Amino acid sequence: MKTLKHTLLAASMAAALALANGAHAAEPVWDGNKIEMVSETLSPGVFAFYAIDAKALNTKGAAAGTSGGLVVGSKGALLIDTMLNKRLNKQVQDLGRKLGKNKPLLYAINTSAHGDHSFGNMYLPASTTIIQHANTRTYVDQHLADDKAFMIKNFGTGRGIEEIKARTGDLLVPAGGKLTLDLGGKTVDIMDFGFAQTGGDLWVWEPQSKVMWSGNPVIASKPALPWLLDGHLVASLETLRKVYDFLPSDARIVPGHGVPMAREDLKWHIDYLATVRTQVQAAVDQGLTLEQTVKQVAMPEFGGYALFGWVHPGLNVPAAYKDLSKK
Ligand SMILES: [Zn+2]
Repeated sequence: MKTLKHTLLAASMAAALALANGAHAAEPVWDGNKIEMVSETLSPGVFAFYAIDAKALNTKGAAAGTSGGLVVGSKGALLIDTMLNKRLNKQVQDLGRKLGKNKPLLYAINTSAHGDHSFGNMYLPASTTIIQHANTRTYVDQHLADDKAFMIKNFGTGRGIEEIKARTGDLLVPAGGKLTLDLGGKTVDIMDFGFAQTGGDLWVWEPQSKVMWSGNPVIASKPALPWLLDGHLVASLETLRKVYDFLPSDARIVPGHGVPMAREDLKWHIDYLATVRTQVQAAVDQGLTLEQTVKQVAMPEFGGYALFGWVHPGLNVPAAYKDLSKK
């Protein structure tokens, strides 16, 4: 599964880079040596972290750096996602110390095994408990070297990826599981809603301020679209619907690569996957080949995303075709 993903992505990323930058394919989509992280206060003790240019990039449908955040209680703090490299990890740790008034960083969560959400684990204090999905830990145990090579290929050499060593979860959330952490006057739920993008996807919910961190299953608000990197259209759609149903109407979502969005903004992603499902199912029922299906399921109404040209025909329609034709 991983090999397939890497092959698919290595090919499609080159196209994405050209599309996103109109420049050399050697340029990363975003540069881990240049991103500057900023914080936004969502509620007292609850913060979103994102790249300083994330809002502008989200608005025009371009790719932004990794987002995350921090929740601070009376006992200590919890960090959501540890970033791509030492430089970006230091930025979120520095923000964490400042906003957390030097309270200890008790926990750090990886929303998935993707390197831009987890490589920074090794730079955290030894006393910080790392939380991962059980599938994420298994994945990192078996595939870190492949994953580093893949990330270097797409995010560049000299971006601090070469020196990454695995630091995996101390506390694991099992499939379908939920973990509730008490930070002192604030609780945080770490939840698995089902397959969302990697099969090791964790969602972080702070019920008092009604903030949900999604990681990559929700990249950013409209016009960004889901990336079915590891396939499973049907399960991913079902999971996003479950999350939508779980959230109260005034909830906010901190996506994997963007600024906070509203619960209703999830509709765009759900509508997109539902449309892919309906149209690809029709193509399968007509007996079309994959190539014919890609051509027929063009869906230009979702074309505002800068990466649409590869994510839709190159990744999502083929993933849906495979899932729905069960070949
Ligand atoms: Zn990411």
